[in-house]
Amino acid sequence: MARVPFSCTCGTVTGEIDVPSPRAGNHVVCHCPDCRTAELYLGQPDPDPDGVELWQTTPDRVHIATGQDRLAILRLSPKGLYRWHATCCNAPMFNTLRNPRLAFVGIPAKRLSDTTTLGPIIGHAFMDKPGGGYRHQGFNRIGARIMRMMLAANLSGRWRKTPFFDESGQPRATIRIMTREERTALRRTP
Ligand SMILES: [Zn+2]
Ligand SMILES: [Zn+2]
Repeated sequence: MARVPFSCTCGTVTGEIDVPSPRAGNHVVCHCPDCRTAELYLGQPDPDPDGVELWQTTPDRVHIATGQDRLAILRLSPKGLYRWHATCCNAPMFNTLRNPRLAFVGIPAKRLSDTTTLGPIIGHAFMDKPGGGYRHQGFNRIGARIMRMMLAANLSGRWRKTPFFDESGQPRATIRIMTREERTALRRTP
C-alpha cells in the first residue's frame, strides 16, 4: 500500500492518502464547468483546456496531518458539491458529497507529491461536444468503480472514518455558497 503526501500550495494543510492500488480509485480528468468555476473563484489558473486531474477515493483513505482548521467549504449552489479548500492560500483540496454515508472524495492530482502510484488516467468527464452538450470517455468504468467503492465503505462501516465530518454528520468546516451572480460572472460565454 502506497502512502502519498498531499499539501496545499503554501504547505499549511498537509497529510497523506492511502493508495492500496491504482484499482482502488479513479484517476480521471474532469472538464465540467463547475470544477472550472471553482478553480477560477479560488484564484487558480484556468484549467481549460486540460481539465482538472483528480484522484477519486473514499474519505477513510485521507489522513490530514496539519492545518485541518484552515479548511473551508465552497458550494457553487445550495445543492453543489462540498469543495473543500485551504483558506491560507485558497488551494482547492478535496471534493465531497454532503452526506458522509456517501463515502466519496476527489483530490486534485496537483495537491499530491507524486501521481505515479495512481496509475494512468482512465477517463475524461464532461468534455465539450462540438455543437453543444458533453461527451465522456471511460464513464461506465469510472461510475461502476465509484459505486463499488462507496458501497464497500458503507457496508464495512469505513464511511464513519472520515476527516471531513463529525459523529453527527456535520462538516468540520464552515460553508459558503456562491451567489448566482458570482457563478455566472465566471462562466465561459459561448
Ligand atoms: Zn495553504
Ligand atoms: Zn468537475
